[in-house]
Amino acid sequence: MAAPAISTSQRTYELDRAHVFHSWSAQKSLQPMVVERTDGCYLWDGDGKEYLDFSSQLVYTNVGHQHPKVVAAVQEQAAKLCTIAPAHANEARSEAARLIAEISPEGMDRVFFTSGGADSNEHAIRMARLHTGRYKILSAYRSYHGATAETINLSGDHRRWPNDYGNSGAVHFHGPFLYRSEFRSETEEQECERALEHLETLIRFEGPAAFAAIIVESVPGTSGIMPPPPGYLKGVRDICDRYGIVMICDEVMSGFGRTGAWLAIDHYDVVPDLITFAKGVNSGYVPLGGVIVGEKIYNSFAERPYPGGMTYSGHPLACAAAVATITTMHEERIVENAEFIGRTSLGPGLRALADKHPSIGDVRGLGVFWALDLVTNRETREPLSPYGGTNAAIGQTMAAARDAGLLVFNNYHRIHVVPPCTVTPTQVDAALAMLDTALDVADSYY
Ligand code: PLP
Repeated sequence: MAAPAISTSQRTYELDRAHVFHSWSAQKSLQPMVVERTDGCYLWDGDGKEYLDFSSQLVYTNVGHQHPKVVAAVQEQAAKLCTIAPAHANEARSEAARLIAEISPEGMDRVFFTSGGADSNEHAIRMARLHTGRYKILSAYRSYHGATAETINLSGDHRRWPNDYGNSGAVHFHGPFLYRSEFRSETEEQECERALEHLETLIRFEGPAAFAAIIVESVPGTSGIMPPPPGYLKGVRDICDRYGIVMICDEVMSGFGRTGAWLAIDHYDVVPDLITFAKGVNSGYVPLGGVIVGEKIYNSFAERPYPGGMTYSGHPLACAAAVATITTMHEERIVENAEFIGRTSLGPGLRALADKHPSIGDVRGLGVFWALDLVTNRETREPLSPYGGTNAAIGQTMAAARDAGLLVFNNYHRIHVVPPCTVTPTQVDAALAMLDTALDVADSYY
């Protein structure tokens, strides 16, 4: 008798387990979900179960899954010209650069293209080092800048620990974070002032003439979604000017609508020297990243070659997706929608959940970029799971959300609620109801 046929989804799963080596995971215990189909804010697994995708995958599907205008643009580009090396000029690349420059702060008119976030940060750091002739780079402990050798050493959070070779020139500092203040502050103003004092003290003691750049996420993402107090980034700009340090804003996660503005830096009235981006620039349909270059750094390389680049920099398929994504965001007022949703439904809805669930210690965010800081005690703010680790409490909470049909992003004791910028109030209501159920599990550990 013939063996019973297995479904395509089962075969996909078995081939994955036999041959795919996954990132960030212990290989043997992994049970990846097979995804069959995606559309807008939804995806369906191999059994046909529907999920609301409030993770935006790795926080990048800003126009949602399978947006027809972006899909069509990639198809048209593929039919016309699939690839051309970075040294040539190409319509998709030129148009993408123009559209990105258009939404950038004044005077930031050039775009160096890469294939993702980490390589964008690699190149921003290289530009800063060559521009200043200095080596050290400042970055926050609560930060993530990528998984390449240089950027993982710069990343301040626990993901650096297994990869830290201690010789990268990275010097870490504490950014402002009132809920878990390292400065024992009681107000945002205090936290801002003390964080800036701490940063300047560190620079003085480490040797001001050694610093090429400071890299900051304009709104830190995977380390906790911590919008900085109003004056902080302006204070960082002043420090950079005082010591001749290049200011790099990492907008890989926070850019292209995520915070309810084109760039998160738009909320803070500051012009950095370099801005890095990836993810939302084309909703991740084809890998793309880049560095938006201000006049000062551009002029540094006006007469001498910039020593760096990659085979697939500014790939035409990726740039065509970026042109379609940015154009669609303008046409459909998607950035405005992200701001509206954050202000009127997602933000208030998450705060209402905090009134009901004691395990929510803090709710932070803006636009479609929100974190729930889960605790076992509101007084001591003891995290639901240990720093840099996981435990049954967070594992079961996440499983309950998934069982209810909701995908959210988890980084140790936090749940990040980060839907596409196209999300509707009805979808927000549905997601909040599912979260409500999942949070009962977190409450049982309180
Ligand atoms: N920078 C930030 C702020 C990020 O959130 C990430 C990824 O999550 C990166 C850089 C790295 O980007 P990539 O994974 O595309 O290399």
